[in-house]
Amino acid sequence: MYIDPHVHMVSRTTDDYERMALAGCVAITEPAFWAGYDRSSAAGFFDYFRTLTEYEPRRAAQYGIAHHTWLCINPKEAEDLGLAREVMSIIPEFLERPGVLGIGEIGLNKNSRNELRIFEEHLELAGRHDQMILIHTPHLEDKLKGTRLILDALDDAGVDPGRVLVDHVEEHTVELVLDRGYWAGMTLYPETKCTPQRAADIFEVYGQERIWINSAGDWGPSDPLAVPKCQQELRSRGHLEEMIRKVSFENPLKFLSQSGKFSTNSP
Ligand SMILES: [Zn+2]
Repeated sequence: MYIDPHVHMVSRTTDDYERMALAGCVAITEPAFWAGYDRSSAAGFFDYFRTLTEYEPRRAAQYGIAHHTWLCINPKEAEDLGLAREVMSIIPEFLERPGVLGIGEIGLNKNSRNELRIFEEHLELAGRHDQMILIHTPHLEDKLKGTRLILDALDDAGVDPGRVLVDHVEEHTVELVLDRGYWAGMTLYPETKCTPQRAADIFEVYGQERIWINSAGDWGPSDPLAVPKCQQELRSRGHLEEMIRKVSFENPLKFLSQSGKFSTNSP
């Protein structure tokens, strides 16, 4: 049994839901992100938020998977400040819907000034509405610098670290995130970025507190079964079932349950 706390099901087929259910997935959370193309207006995001809060939960429920979501305008499309603010203005009306856990995945992509500005405005939005936060950290060479910028902005905003998940951590950023009291997510990709093997190494070095794995299955090369594959890797290394359950079920359950809307029971 497992929870996948970060998977972009709008980009996946219904067959993927079936395969995930067969592999033991009982609940997912789907952060708002780039959907594979740039949306031309706030209306495009309005429809996207409806997809995330109305259609995907129903599609997931067919396979007994409880679906939840996080809302925002992602850093990749936040370069246009006018569009970003217009999108942010429609978020509050969705926050009360069932299954909406908070603001995410916000953060930085290219570490630009506009991205940082919109990131800070999202932190204010989360604060005003008492929402939890899910954070995207940049990939590759921008990751370390971006992670530091993000953690500093979180400090400045006075956000409670226990209600923030910082995602896409790797070997060179995981300690930074955990040391400051945040939760850390490792995103598993088939080859690039963090593989199931590297995630297993990270658990062995940094322990299993406030840390978990997710698939980030999306429109690009990715694997919605990455979490059970990492469970298998841990099993083959001789880790106990209790440890495997902690990093793939108990830890996300503990963090996500802070919202009061999270459930592992499909409606
Ligand atoms: Zn994502």
